Amino acid sequence: MAKHILKCPQCRIYTLKNLCSSCGVATSQIKPPKYSPEDPYGDYRRKAKYPDLVAQGLL
Ligand SMILES: [Zn+2]
Repeated sequence: MAKHILKCPQCRIYTLKNLCSSCGVATSQIKPPKYSPEDPYGDYRRKAKYPDLVAQGLL
């Protein structure tokens, strides 16, 4: 599976290292998207997104 993706807050680049290879600033972990069916907000997002897709003619 995917490794933990870290992001440099200064360069705003993504890396897998704890320290940014460009500026040396400590990177921070970004929130991984949740796809759990038990995640109520995930379900909310899917429902909220549906009308948007309809409006764009994608569904
Ligand atoms: Zn950096």
